[in-house]
Amino acid sequence: MRAFGYSTATDPATAVRLASRPDTTYIAGGTDLLNLMRDGSEDHHHLVDINRLRLADVTVDDDGVRIGGLARMRQVADDARVRRRFPVVSQALLASASPQVRNMASIGGNLLQRTRCGYFRDAGSACNKRVPGSGCPAITGDNRIHAFLGTSDRCIATHPSDLAVALTALDATVNVLGPDGARQIPITDFYVLPGDTPHLENALRYGELITGVEVPGGPSAPMSRYLKLRDRATFEFAVVSVAAVLRVRAGRVQEIRLAFGGIGTKPWRSPEAEAALRGRRLTAESVAEAGRALVRQAAPRDGNEFKVELVQRALAGVLSELGGPR
Ligand code: SF4
Repeated sequence: MRAFGYSTATDPATAVRLASRPDTTYIAGGTDLLNLMRDGSEDHHHLVDINRLRLADVTVDDDGVRIGGLARMRQVADDARVRRRFPVVSQALLASASPQVRNMASIGGNLLQRTRCGYFRDAGSACNKRVPGSGCPAITGDNRIHAFLGTSDRCIATHPSDLAVALTALDATVNVLGPDGARQIPITDFYVLPGDTPHLENALRYGELITGVEVPGGPSAPMSRYLKLRDRATFEFAVVSVAAVLRVRAGRVQEIRLAFGGIGTKPWRSPEAEAALRGRRLTAESVAEAGRALVRQAAPRDGNEFKVELVQRALAGVLSELGGPR
């Protein structure tokens, strides 16, 4: 790892000012950033430590939940109000990483973690995301964990955050502060498709800091679940995952929001699958129809073709847990 400078900030405005210098980034828990710097996947001249900022509160009221960008994963996952009102958030966090990582890692950092594509993590490999224009060996190489939706001929990597999938199903908003002030970004616009520029992964401008996340939801939140399928029971990223938010009235789906991990190049919302279920009863036919709608645009590679079927089964599984057909 190359030597780097280090500053601490005690208020957000100072942090933003310090981070507006070239080749500078923020550090909170450091659970991903330090690995990336050690392995040569990222290179920063200066880090601004934001752990002393007062951005760790979790507030729950009739408008929903506001989670500070520096709240720790464990803190949010264990919050009884979050567990009761937004179980999909707690479940996604508890399905992530290890207890040690969850104790350290911040909510903002979780949303900004980088892909687990092995070529990206190996500084000796070509990778358009790490070195633009160098190529994408995953397209013809090892692509078992890669995406089949939203891909380009430059990059097929998935985003690894479970929390981001849950927040996508909940229509969350990401609050940021930067040199030009504060703004709110709907999470569906926060992550961007790789296109020709896979090194650009989100809508953050240089120097912007995630100050928090807002999840809308009245006092009677709909039912929600997170289902994650992975190669081992803990400390493992999703092969596929599903976040479902559902409200049923008189036996018919009144409200449904579905997001998926492990299949798209960003946390993947599926309006097509939602439309196949809205206003209908949850039956084997309607659920199967939703699954087919989800994968209609799928462009799998040799190594990840199995996920096309797997994610449809995962969707059926999570809807079954929410009262659908067994
Ligand atoms: Fe790099 Fe993306 Fe290709 Fe992986 S899939 S090697 S991250 S360009």
